[in-house]
Amino acid sequence: MEAIVTGLNPQSAAQVGFDLAGRTALVTGASSGLGVHFARCLAGHGARVAVAARRAEKVATLAEEINASGGEAEALRLDVTDAASVAEAFEGRCFDIVVNNAGIAFNGPALDTPEQDWRQVIDTDLTGVFLVSQAAARAMVAAQRGGSIINIASILGKRVAGGLSAYAAAKAAVVQLTRANALEWARHDIRVNAICPGYIETDINRDFFATEAGQKLVRRIPIRRLGQMEDLSAPLLLLASDHSRFMTGSELVVDGGHLVTSL
Ligand code: NAD
Repeated sequence: MEAIVTGLNPQSAAQVGFDLAGRTALVTGASSGLGVHFARCLAGHGARVAVAARRAEKVATLAEEINASGGEAEALRLDVTDAASVAEAFEGRCFDIVVNNAGIAFNGPALDTPEQDWRQVIDTDLTGVFLVSQAAARAMVAAQRGGSIINIASILGKRVAGGLSAYAAAKAAVVQLTRANALEWARHDIRVNAICPGYIETDINRDFFATEAGQKLVRRIPIRRLGQMEDLSAPLLLLASDHSRFMTGSELVVDGGHLVTSL
């Protein structure tokens, strides 16, 4: 343990905590899964969180829950693929922290992927990230304050798996968009980083991972378990907070070693 904290005196090590009091945050796709977790996590560390998704009633319930438990939240209706909806969500608002979490996947062979499904995945997972990031950065520049944009990519942005060509292409593009925006916006004190999660257990995939095929997949993860949403909390808070003030254009892989499996 001693060696790990070399260079940090005990006092400064104790001070490494994540305090987001006074910050505002936006989480897209906050109607289920990781988005709900990210919103609770940011609110739990003091940020005032806007929870945004297409299903207004779902985000309204989450905002109520956060407010009732002592946090601060507001619900926003947002379709990240619709520029008008994005403009409306940013009307009169500037967020310090923006989490581009909304995403969908089309599962099926490339030979049989309908054009409509391809476009839907690219629109949501890539164009949606661009539209929200652009609106967020424009507001930050106009307000002359920096901020932190966190793009939720995937290990499928770095390697491939069968039946996920549109998703893998979109997530790889998100990793590259993260770097491109980081380069352009550093002068405005806007940091842009990505998290590449591996397989994380949520309500929509829990049943699959309980099957034999799912368990077989889990055995290929070097750490030999699925990720839990809590495994993403510290990476998220690191990127959201000033502790990552010298980080931009980077990607944090949180995957139990899945990307480094032997070829
Ligand atoms: P999920 O389906 O539960 O959450 C995605 C959310 O995005 C949903 O609430 C959905 O309604 C919302 N959404 C979809 N299209 C939208 C749109 N046009 N506008 C606004 N919201 C929209 O899935 P999840 O597992 O929580 O995934 C969250 C993010 O994490 C996604 O970007 C996903 O690609 C990424 N991810 C998940 C995993 C995992 O194992 N769960 C792994 C790697 C990356």
